[in-house]
Amino acid sequence: MSNTPYPQSYYAASANSAPERPFLQDDIETDVCVIGAGYTGLSSALFLLESGFKVTVLEAAKVGFGASGRNGGQIVNSYSRDIDVIERTVGAQQAHLLGQMAFEGSRIIRERVATYNIQCDLKDGGVFAAITSKQMGHLEAQKKLWERYGNTQLELLDQRRIREVVACDQYQGGLLDMSGGHIHPLNLALGEAAAVESLGGTIYEQSPAVRIERGASPVVHTPHGKVRAKFIIVAGNAYLGNLVPELASKSMPCGTQVITTEPLSESVANSLLPQDYCVEDCNYLLDYYRLSGDKRLIFGGGVVYGARDPANIEVIIRPKMLKAFPQLKDVKIDYAWTGNFLLTLSRLPQVGRIGDNIYYSQGCSGHGVTYTHLAGKVLAEALRGQAERFDAFADLPHYPFPGGQLLRTPLTALGAWYYSLRDKFGF
Ligand SMILES: Cc1cc2nc3c(=O)[nH]c(=O)nc-3n(C[C@H](O)[C@H](O)[C@H](O)COP(=O)(O)OP(=O)(O)OC[C@H]3O[C@@H](n4cnc5c(N)ncnc54)[C@H](O)[C@@H]3O)c2cc1C
Repeated sequence: MSNTPYPQSYYAASANSAPERPFLQDDIETDVCVIGAGYTGLSSALFLLESGFKVTVLEAAKVGFGASGRNGGQIVNSYSRDIDVIERTVGAQQAHLLGQMAFEGSRIIRERVATYNIQCDLKDGGVFAAITSKQMGHLEAQKKLWERYGNTQLELLDQRRIREVVACDQYQGGLLDMSGGHIHPLNLALGEAAAVESLGGTIYEQSPAVRIERGASPVVHTPHGKVRAKFIIVAGNAYLGNLVPELASKSMPCGTQVITTEPLSESVANSLLPQDYCVEDCNYLLDYYRLSGDKRLIFGGGVVYGARDPANIEVIIRPKMLKAFPQLKDVKIDYAWTGNFLLTLSRLPQVGRIGDNIYYSQGCSGHGVTYTHLAGKVLAEALRGQAERFDAFADLPHYPFPGGQLLRTPLTALGAWYYSLRDKFGF
């Protein structure tokens, strides 16, 4: 049996207690076999169990081992590309459905936390911070766009107002979304896993799916057992590897890094983020940060295309943190880790069905905490035979990366470098 532990992150060190879960060592039958116990898999499992399906989840390592247990914890609404781009790509009618769903993920998270009493330090309020006036103009347009879909809780912050919510001199202004917010991401995943089990679902850890035998009644093979199911949901995202070659060829795993300071004094923490909102800036390669429940600054940024792990994360991320908050120059970094998200060329999620019974959702390209919760609901609806919202996502085009598997990493890095220059010089 493999025994892959969590990476050494602040989240793993402050995780709520969870049971030891067995690995699969039998041949079993179920209605739905979910591959991957991140938010996509757990949210799918929960919605399916609530609809009466029998569900088995296979996790290669541990619940929340992937991005769901390592992320910045920012509840960011909408998609990594916005509705105006979607309108241009798929037309007004499909875009309307997707626009109506763009803020649903944050509502699902709050419902889950309330219904299943999940202890994950949930806080309300997220800020998009504009460094340039061009970015501020974009936020103004964004607000109007989101309001068209009924999201009227948004507040533009001018330069004076944004200083009241974050003690950073870099910003021209921002957009506050009170339906955004932040969570301890691993504890959210662990709470959702407990909810899955409370409804009769089964989760096997250290049980990687190594082969899918396709057909009318597909079988998922693990090293020591197998699951025959009516449906399969593939939810391995950036950690899936080549299990489903059709999916691997149209997406690219990318690493992003996070550091966590030692606990700050109450007065320092309050001076940085007085209302305890989370913040992400509007750069193409963005920085994101927030306070933890025990008042550490959790600061993320940087992207490594192709998901190679950098040798020294602190050396990369600490200067970014000090650029935002020079007042933290003497503060110690207690934790540093990296995690992988899945980039698509369009930066929109890839959702679909392979054959009659293998469903998937992947590639939310960085903004996945809310989307993955929505994805679980939409996949469960499709399995129940209500596919309208599933089809709206499935109609989004899945583009291959230029240059194929060999050249996609350097070409994408080149593109990102170009966009970073645009952010830096404002063109
Ligand atoms: C460092 C970092 C910071 C981020 N910050 C934010 C943020 O602040 N806000 C935000 O909205 N988004 C953020 N994201 C993105 C967000 O975390 C992800 O989009 C989201 O968690 C993806 O969830 P998932 O369930 O699809 O994938 P994952 O959470 O990666 O889960 C996939 C799971 O599948 C398992 N698996 C893979 N292959 C197999 C297999 N063959 N058999 C069995 N199991 C398998 C993996 O072990 C893993 O547990 C961040 C991502 C990273 C990496």
